[in-house]
Order: sequence, then C-alpha cells, then structure tokens
Amino acid sequence: MRYYVWTVGCQMNEADSERIVRALQDRGLAEAQSAEQADVVILNTCSVRQAAEDKALSKVGSLRPLKLARPDLIIGFGGCMVAGDTVDGLRRRLPYVDVFFPPSEPDGLLELIDHRMADRDPTFDDDVASDGCLAPTVVASAGAIVNTSRPRPVARWLPIMSGCNRRCTYCIVPFRRGREVSRPIPELVDESRRLVADGAREITLLGQIVDRYGRDLRPQRFHLGDLLRALQDVEGLERIRFLTSHPRDFTEEVLEATATLPKVCEHINIPVQAGDDDVLQAMWRGYTIDVYRRIVARIRERIPTCSIATDIIVGFPGETEDQFRHTLDLMEELRFDVVHVAMYSPRPGTVAGDRMPDLLSQAEKKDRLHRVEEIQERVSLELNQTLVGTTQQILVEDTDKGKWKGRTRTNKLVFFEDPRDWLGRLANVRIDRPSPWSLQGSVVGGEQPGPVRPVLQPLPVLNSRSPAVPSNSLR
Ligand code: SAM
Ligand code: SF4
Repeated sequence: MRYYVWTVGCQMNEADSERIVRALQDRGLAEAQSAEQADVVILNTCSVRQAAEDKALSKVGSLRPLKLARPDLIIGFGGCMVAGDTVDGLRRRLPYVDVFFPPSEPDGLLELIDHRMADRDPTFDDDVASDGCLAPTVVASAGAIVNTSRPRPVARWLPIMSGCNRRCTYCIVPFRRGREVSRPIPELVDESRRLVADGAREITLLGQIVDRYGRDLRPQRFHLGDLLRALQDVEGLERIRFLTSHPRDFTEEVLEATATLPKVCEHINIPVQAGDDDVLQAMWRGYTIDVYRRIVARIRERIPTCSIATDIIVGFPGETEDQFRHTLDLMEELRFDVVHVAMYSPRPGTVAGDRMPDLLSQAEKKDRLHRVEEIQERVSLELNQTLVGTTQQILVEDTDKGKWKGRTRTNKLVFFEDPRDWLGRLANVRIDRPSPWSLQGSVVGGEQPGPVRPVLQPLPVLNSRSPAVPSNSLR
C-alpha cells in the first residue's frame, strides 16, 4: 500500500504529519508521489485563517472523483479543522471521507488502515500495529523506521506540549487543540535520542507557548529551562531550538538557558502581533508595547547576537490607520530579523470573530500587509548585510538547485556550492552575498565532508524544513 500526505499550517502540523508518516512507514507503507497513485490519502488541515480552510476544502474536493473511481481508497481528513463541534458538519459535507481525526490524534485513521491491511493480508498483526503513533510512550511508533529508502531529515520538530490556555480574541487554536498538556522530560529525552539515532542533529521544540512548558506536570512541575538542560546532554545532538515564546510568559530562566547552554541556538520567536496598546488589549494579549520593548532589550543585552522573529496581524477589527502606523514604527525601532505577517481572518467561535465587526476591506488589509513586508524586506537585507565577510556555522540540511542549503545558529538560511557531501554536517561558511531572505557563501572549513557527489541533485527528504519563509506565508 502507498500513502500520500498533504499538510498545511504551522510547524506543529508538520510535526504531526511527520509522525503519521513514520507510523505508516512502520506498517510497511511506501510513499506515493501523488494522491492519484496512493491507497491512503491524508490531509492535515489548519484553521488559523479562512484561506487555510479553503485550501483544504478545495484539496479534499479534488479527491472526490478518485474515491468514486476507487472506493477502496482511504481518505483521512485531520488537524485543526476537525474538532468535536465540526465533525458532524464535515461528515455531511464530505461523505466520501473515510475518517476524520483531531489534531495530534490520528489513532482512528491508523486503526482503519490496520483493518484494511489485515483484510488484504491475513498474516498482518493489527494488534501490534494499531498503537497510536502520537501516544508518547508507544515505542513501536517512535522507534526505528523500517521500509524507508529515503534519507532522514537532519532538523526535526519535537512537540513538547499541546494546546493553549490563553484566549487571544482572534485565535481558534485553544478551541481546536484544547488546554495545555506537557510531555514529561524523560519521554522527550528518550524521543530526542531516537531522533538522533535516526539522523537528526537539530531539534526544534514546539509548543503554542513553549515558556509555559511543564507547569501542568505532576507530581513535580518543570520548566523549559529544565528540559533544555536535559537535552543538552543528549549525545550527537548539535543544536536545540524552541518556539513559540509569549511576551507574558517569557522568563529570565529561558533566556539564561539560551545564553549559557552551548547547544541552544541564539534565536527567539516572540510574536508581538500589533504595535499599539489598544489593539493589544482588544486582542487580549496581556502586555503593553513597553513591556515587549523591555523584553527585546533584555534579550539583546544578554545575547547580543540573538536573532528575533515576530508575528504581526494586520487589519484586526477596529485597527485604525494611526494604530497600524504604530506597528510600522515598532518594526523600524526594534528591527526584527524575521516578521511573519498575516491579514486578520475572522474565525467563528472566537471573541473577535463573533463580536467584533471585521470592517476593513481585503484591499485595505492587503495594503497594510504589503507595507509591513516592504519595511521588513529592507530591514532584513540591512541586517543580513552586516554578516557579509563573517564566518557562520551552518548545519547542512538539504540541497537546492545544485547548492547546499543550511541554517546559521540564528536560523538564517545559507546556500553554498561545493562538490563534496555536506549533508548533515556542520560547515563553516564565509558569507559573500546577502538578500532579505537568505545568504550566499563559500565553505572555508568545518567537519570532514563526505566524498565528492558527482551531480548535486535535490535530496528526497521526508519533510524538509520550510525554506526562507516569505513573511506572509502560512505557518
Ligand atoms: N502561540 C503563538 C502566539 O501567542 O503568538 C502563536 C500561535 S498562532 C497559531 C500562529 C500565528 O497565527 C499567530 O501568531 C498569529 O499571528 C496568526 N493568527 C492566529 N489567528 C489568526 C487570525 N484569526 N487571523 C490572522 N492571523 C492569525
Ligand atoms: Fe492562539 Fe494566543 Fe494561544 Fe498563541 S497564545 S495559540 S495566539 S490563543
């Protein structure tokens, strides 16, 4: 049997898909290049913005003729569009979908696949294989990967917690992913070791608010700093990243761990969302711009080389031109390395979606989005220009158009040409040319590379990290 997985949305969704793929490969399924060639098609969806939902509905619509032609095709529809109160509606709207599964809970999907495989092959032991792939203690799903001929990605996602206890007025996530649940440290260390044994050298810890990691653990509460210290000792792991931080929860302890633990990279993702106090209040973000400014100043004081990424929403209900200009002013003042910008999208069920009229037109929102992008393009280029002539340590993750591709510790994308095999190795690269989204350089040292590769072809990696993220892309 062959599978095809389609994913839209954030890193958490990418991590969920990666784990589903591993569970499928553990069962002996091979990857198909398209939905047409697959026996199992899985769509992992996102609800954060209407555009993401529309994309998923259009994708699943395109599968209908396939299902009519091949009734034994399994179609799984999961992720943030699937929640207790949406399933009935989805079932009525998409009767040809076999199984709907909530975010991070693909057990129903895997059970169906196991039964189908058992029907095809009576020797298949579905008791063993039906373990849920995301159940953290299930060794079968998280362990060695079988039946895969593809190289494993060097940089992996590791969800350390699920859910969110905050209620930002625009955000659907808490309604779809539930309350915060942290995974215990020993389990995460164990999984990290397995990822390293499977080729990982960098792990990014994922949580909606990573700074709140461990508060719910019992009998003893832990902190993200404790987890970072535990992972520092994982042999073979070179780099650790974490996202996303929240200005209300970011702590001195996390900053200290980032500053002092050699494997923890100097990169902090801390969304501001808007540059105006009244808008922040309407968003229920729980901080002021002044508090945010002080956090950025403190990060830069403690780790001067740290790169800082942020998220911004433009066109929140009631955002005036003046309030929007405050966001642009903040960008000029703080000069972020990366800005992920999105046009506000009303989400039914949220406070803003239900009670705050969405008065700005698409054209006005687009105009604001472009103004944010314009400033950020200039700032990113200026910041990247300061790196020209410096030597950066790059962890090489992939190839792209005949070049090696990797990231600096500060998460900047770097390309360089070299005939030797650098995949998964640390290269010292001198930066020659900047652009707003990436850097071009020449290798000047690093770990011992592998032998010369005759033709540098794109590597067929399972789930490569997203490229230089255009600032308005879905995350
Ligand atoms: N937990 C993180 C935080 O507190 O900022 C971010 C998680 S959220 C799923 C990812 C990003 O999606 C947010 O930072 C926000 O910019 C964007 N987002 C969430 N809801 C949105 C909406 N209704 N319209 C537009 N963008 C939205
Ligand atoms: Fe959504 Fe706010 Fe929770 Fe982030 S902190 S996931 S934006 S509710």
